[in-house]
Amino acid sequence: MPGVHHLIDFAQPEVFPNMLEERVCDYVSDRRWDLNRIAVVLGDDWIPVFRSTKTPEPEMGEDILAWLLTSDGAFSIKSACSLYLSPSDNSKAKLFSKIWKLEAPQRLHTFCWLVANEVLLTNEIRVKRNMTHDGSCVSCGEAIESMFHVIRDCRVARQTWMSIDTRLRFGNFFNTPLLPWLLENLSSQSLFKGVHWPLLFVCTMNALWLRRNKVIFDSDEAVAENSIHFLAFRLAKDYSMAQLELAQSRKKKEIDLHDTRSLVLAIRNRCSRLTSWNIHHQFREANTCADRLAHFGHSLPSGCHIFFTLPSCISLAFHADSIGIALPRVVSI
Ligand SMILES: [Zn+2]
Repeated sequence: MPGVHHLIDFAQPEVFPNMLEERVCDYVSDRRWDLNRIAVVLGDDWIPVFRSTKTPEPEMGEDILAWLLTSDGAFSIKSACSLYLSPSDNSKAKLFSKIWKLEAPQRLHTFCWLVANEVLLTNEIRVKRNMTHDGSCVSCGEAIESMFHVIRDCRVARQTWMSIDTRLRFGNFFNTPLLPWLLENLSSQSLFKGVHWPLLFVCTMNALWLRRNKVIFDSDEAVAENSIHFLAFRLAKDYSMAQLELAQSRKKKEIDLHDTRSLVLAIRNRCSRLTSWNIHHQFREANTCADRLAHFGHSLPSGCHIFFTLPSCISLAFHADSIGIALPRVVSI
């Protein structure tokens, strides 16, 4: 039926196995809807719906499968995505976008994605899968070990987050539900001791999870409760430093390939010796006299030279400048 997914979902009496093979056309008799039968199976409310729908005709050919979300019935990825990303899933799509764009090691992207989908193998899930009999938290033993318990609500997790930043106790950090909590912290622009908060946030979640795994599977290797925040901060800081060095080496490479490399390096060298400086760029055409004098200076002995008449090398440029001769130049904008 057009616009109706499965009529079987609306059946009023029990649906017997022999009815499962029935088609809509089986409820047509002499090219008219068998309304009595339809009323018995679906109820009287459906009679107007069938009356307003054209009966199927054998001459029209066999039934075909059609995709409900497109006007021509043809499947398209776009329509399937729009179904998946319905308004209720917008915030989740936004969150996943944040996760993949996060400036963090690749493995933390994956970890964060697992957190957002709540698929970390906690004791709560292990009990359901008969992998263990004890679903309680291995760190505190005070609650069932859910994912959110490990990464935020456990006493050990709270202590770690507070050690990272004591101000977290004042906001909604410990009260926000999982998805808004992730979205809010991954969207933060703030810096904490020189490290972007989203990076430190993910590193801390990961350090808590890794420590929990160590406690269960390799307890000798587990770090002390009061050291988890050091571990998280060091990972975040090391990654930030590595990114900074990478950016600087890329910049250096760009300069190395520049055709005025020596000039750029000389300017940088001078600037590094000054406490404050400003750089103003002026096109060469607007500075022809100074440019030609600088070239002329290479042919002179070192020392101060005073000219009482215009040196021939700049006379043309000087007169051209004095009468305002324009020198057009194509500049990209
Ligand atoms: Zn706990």
